[in-house]
This record gives sequence, structure tokens and C-alpha cells, in this order.
Amino acid sequence: MVISFRGPITVAEYINHALLHPEFGYYTQDQTKGGAVFGKDHDFTTAPEISQMFAELLGVWVVHTATNLGFDKFHLVEIGPGRGTLMEDVVRTISQFSQVADKLETIHLVEKSASLRTLQEEKVNWTDVQWHDNFSDIPGDVPCIVLAQELFDALPVHQFELTEHGWCERLVDILEVEEEEVDAEEEGVAPVVAAPGPNAATGTDEAVEDTIDTKDTIDTIDTNDTAEAEELRFVLSPAPTNASRVYVRMFDPIPILPDAEAPRSTGSASDAVEEEAESDSKEKVVDKDAIGSRLEVCPAGCALSQDIALRISTHGGAALFIDYGKDRASGDSLRGIKHHQFVSPLQSPGRVDLSVDVDFASLKAAAEALKIDGLNVYGTVGQGDFLKQLGIETRLHALLTQPGITEEQAETLYLAYHRLTDEEEMGTVYRAMSMVSMPTGGEYEESPPAGF
Ligand code: SAH
Repeated sequence: MVISFRGPITVAEYINHALLHPEFGYYTQDQTKGGAVFGKDHDFTTAPEISQMFAELLGVWVVHTATNLGFDKFHLVEIGPGRGTLMEDVVRTISQFSQVADKLETIHLVEKSASLRTLQEEKVNWTDVQWHDNFSDIPGDVPCIVLAQELFDALPVHQFELTEHGWCERLVDILEVEEEEVDAEEEGVAPVVAAPGPNAATGTDEAVEDTIDTKDTIDTIDTNDTAEAEELRFVLSPAPTNASRVYVRMFDPIPILPDAEAPRSTGSASDAVEEEAESDSKEKVVDKDAIGSRLEVCPAGCALSQDIALRISTHGGAALFIDYGKDRASGDSLRGIKHHQFVSPLQSPGRVDLSVDVDFASLKAAAEALKIDGLNVYGTVGQGDFLKQLGIETRLHALLTQPGITEEQAETLYLAYHRLTDEEEMGTVYRAMSMVSMPTGGEYEESPPAGF
């Protein structure tokens, strides 16, 4: 494994390998055999897998947005389509609105996993479907609508911790039991407990009581006693890393006070550049109370948010992100998920899902930092409010009053509605954010997209 050759790797590299390694990755594993990840019998269930109502309403959102923006033609993009369930139902819904369906040209699915592509191919029924490894591979010559549902939580994050030496980076290392103490001293690397305590996975102090299987609210199981959990451990870099120098400054979580006795700049520009470069290695007075603070950042998410903003602003378009998260950064929300339970993120890399709470504020800030004329960012709003604004209750009522519906089917529908919208369930922790860019050259009034 990479770590045995190169030494400790960043948490971001670890996530990338664990989820997408071509041979051993979690999403790249063969989904048609025992290794499948989605659904009741496997590791987790996502909103489109809970009820078709979810994707139907997203289909309505696409119809509404495409109509409002007055597209003559457009492309529909989904990044991270999983089994293809969302796009299957979105396409079915759009097909019922012929004025919009006639304008939809190509469906682009951004998926790195060959195995998931096979499942998507079976489900997505459209004349022109194209697959891409990366969002940036999609041709940019027509307006597009981009969907990303439970994608950003799977993107790699860096984690930092404030120490007496400044912000150091959390790394993943191999745990060699006998040599553990010696190694840590020799390398100047501080070992950190690998497996999380009971609630570390949720990043909250609240006890999690119910076992339900969406990614945000499931139980944590103690993996301390498994052999696998002991193979890897978190360590801290002995000094700030490139990533901690760049990203902590960008996110500026807690001010690190400059040493009062440090010599002041004499004013020359080149001195200033050198001092800037050296400043991380100089002594700094760190607020003692803040030591131990953690910060998690997702540069890949910010970069993708910017790519999407640029792409939809070339010919007009819109994007919708739905995920669990907050309008701020987390300290450490990385968790492993296996069979509908939280486990250590270091357990069985490639066989356990890894996910984090999405920091929507950083996605929004990244897009807005581009200062693109005509680009507006909306949200976040809770998934419950979003779906209600789009008419989930009307849809539920229509389904419940279908002729011949059994009591059992009605109960299932109601439970799915409750699960998707209730604030104790997915209604608040799951959130929606949107970006809209007006097509150039037309008369468009700025108005929030449906649901915002
Ligand atoms: N949207 C689906 C699946 C969510 S699971 C649903 O809601 O059911 C996450 C999806 O993102 C998978 O399709 C996975 O292959 C994809 N994915 C994970 N990491 C990715 C990355 N770095 N870039 C692009 N897609 C990624």
C-alpha cells in the first residue's frame, strides 16, 4: 500500500484511494456482486432510493428551471449518479413535459466507477447518454443543468489540528504495534487515537439513538476491538504542511497571534515575500485554549463548485446540490459507514464508505469568489422545506388517492414522505443549494429557482 512506500499520507489522499482506487476502491468495486454499496441490504440508502417522489420532484425542478431560463436546447448533467435511480426517475418525469423534453439533448453522467456505469446504463433511458470521468470533460457549447445529489460528502477533505507549533495536518499512517512509541518519538509525529469514540463520527455531543440508514443519522459501532481498525492510525504532521499553510489561512478558523517579539518588517517588497514564506516556521504564540481545535476543508469540493459555476455561466444554466451538511466548516466529521452503521473511517479501506458533512458555505464562497456577472447562488434550505416548496405533499396526496392502492403501499409512501422531510429525519440535516446563471443576450429577471 502507498503508506508503506511513502510514509503517512494526507486524509484527502487516503479518502481518494479508499473510495476510488481502480482496483480496491469502495465505489469502483464490482457493484453487481456481493460488494454492492447502495440499498437496504448493503451499506446505505440515499434519498432517490427511499422513494421515487424525491427524483420526480427534482425532475419538476429541472422542468421549471429549463422553462424559466428559456433554453432552446440544453444538456442535463449528473455528477456521481450511483445506481442511476435519480436520473432514471428524473428522465421519466421530464418526458411527461414534452415542451422541455424536446429541448433536452444529451444526458452527461460523471462517474469514475466502471461498475456503476454499467448499472446506470441499464437504468437511464434516453437517446443520447454520455459518460465522463471528470466534470471538466463535458463539452461546453450549450446551456446545462447540473445535479449533484450526495456527491460532495464523498469528496476528499484535509484535516488540520491546532498545536503549539501552529496548524498541523492530520495524516494516516500504518500502526506498527511494537514500534508505535519509538516511531512517534523518532519521527516527531504525535500518534492520535484511530478509532472514534461513541459520537466522534457525528461530530456532535448528542447521543444517536435510532438505527436508520441514511448516512447522517445512523448509529456508531465501536470498532476498537477489530483487528482491522488497528492497522491504520491518525498521526499529526510534526510541523505545518503545504496544505495547512494554504488552506487554514483561506478558511481562517481561529486567529493565531503573531509573536509580539518577532522583528517587524523593514518594508522592502522582497523582504515581505521572504517573511511571508518564512512566517510559518517562525515562533508563533498560539492561543492555549484553542489548542486541539480541528478544521476540515474540502478543496476538491470548492474547485468543483467553481468549475460548475464557470461551466453554467458560459451559455447559461443552473446547478442543484443536495447533501447533508452545514453552512460552515466542521472540525472532524469524517466517518466510515458499513451495513448501515458508523464505523472507524480507518477500518477496511475500500470496503467501507467514507463521508463527511458538506461545508456549503465554502462551496458558495468559492463560486462567488469568481465574481461572475449574472451568476447567483441560493440556499441552503433544508431538504424538507425544499421538497415541500416543490409540492411533495401534493404528489403524496395524488399517489395516496390512486385507485387500488393498498394500505401497505399507502403506509410505505407516507413513511417515505416523513423520512425525506421531517426535521428529525432528513428534512433539516440534508440541505439544498443552487446556482443559476442567466443566458446572455436575453431579458431575464433574476428570481430564485423553485424551492429556494
Ligand atoms: N447520487 C447517488 C449516489 C451517491 S453515492 C444517490 O444519491 O443515490 C456517491 C456517488 O459519487 C457515486 O456514484 C460515486 O461513484 C461518485 N463519486 C465519489 N467520489 C467521486 C469523485 N471524486 N468524483 C466524481 N464522482 C465521485
